[in-house]
Amino acid sequence: MEHLWAPWRIEYVQMKRPTGCILCDKPKEDADVANYILYRGTLNYVIMNSYPYNPGHLMVAPYRHVATPEDLTPDESCEHFEIIGRCVKVLRQVFEPAGFNTGMNIGKVAGAGVDGHIHSHIVPRWQGDTNFMPVIGDARVIPQALAETYMKLAGKL
Ligand SMILES: [Zn+2]
Repeated sequence: MEHLWAPWRIEYVQMKRPTGCILCDKPKEDADVANYILYRGTLNYVIMNSYPYNPGHLMVAPYRHVATPEDLTPDESCEHFEIIGRCVKVLRQVFEPAGFNTGMNIGKVAGAGVDGHIHSHIVPRWQGDTNFMPVIGDARVIPQALAETYMKLAGKL
């Protein structure tokens, strides 16, 4: 995989991590739009990555605090993968990417941003990628880009 140039992520890399688990907390807050939660399944939900590698970077996570995929129940596991498929389908329709990266980073050493609560990343890919993100290291553009992406995807999953 080629490295994506994503200068806006410096804010994420440098920030102090909140205590607790955001993947447990966000769905309990009853603020899906503010939290960029796009879809709630029975056992898993979809949340936009606030520090995306590309527009439309989504994450699928179980509601339950599970550190590793072998601890998912068969039902959680099945729905998790079904929702990944749903995300890919909708992203394809809305953004017409040329491809996707999907996968999990398990453990800090593997690059997990939220260690201890598994989540699958779905990152749409284009030829030339960052040409599509109207950002030249300007962090203020990110919330606007996130809100626009949310509006494009809301209700479609
Ligand atoms: Zn958690």
